[in-house]
Amino acid sequence: MKGIALIAHDGKKAEMVAFIKDHSELFTQVKLVATGTTGQYVQQTGLKVKKLLSGPKGGDAQIASLVAEGKLRAVIFFRDPLGKHPHEPDVQMLMRLCDLHNVALATNPSTARLLVKGLEAEFMG
Ligand code: PGA
Repeated sequence: MKGIALIAHDGKKAEMVAFIKDHSELFTQVKLVATGTTGQYVQQTGLKVKKLLSGPKGGDAQIASLVAEGKLRAVIFFRDPLGKHPHEPDVQMLMRLCDLHNVALATNPSTARLLVKGLEAEFMG
C-alpha cells in the first residue's frame, strides 16, 4: 500500500495537528511518513508515523525521493508562505516531482480536506 507524507512548516504545525485529529480515522489506516519535527507532532496525537530527517536537514528531499520512487499516494504539505526557509530549493524539488509523477499534493488545509475526502473513499470504501 502506498503511503501518505505529512510535512508542516513551523508556522503551520498546530494546523497540521488539528487536521490530523479531525481525520484520524483515515490516518490510522494508512502508512504515514513525515519530516522529522512534523513527525514528532504527529506522534503526539498517538498515530504511528515514520520520521525522516527534519526538513532543513533533507527531510523534504527524502520525501521527494519517495515520490520519484512511486511510494507515495499523496503529500500533505502545509507550507508557510510568510516564512523564509533555508531549504526552499528542496521544497521546489518536492513540488516539481509531485507534478512530474502525478502525485496528489495539498499545500493548505482547504485543499487537504478535499484530498482526504477522496482518500477516505479510496482507503475506507
Ligand atoms: P520539519 O520540516 O517537520 O522537520 O520541521 C518541515 C519543513 O520545514 O519542511
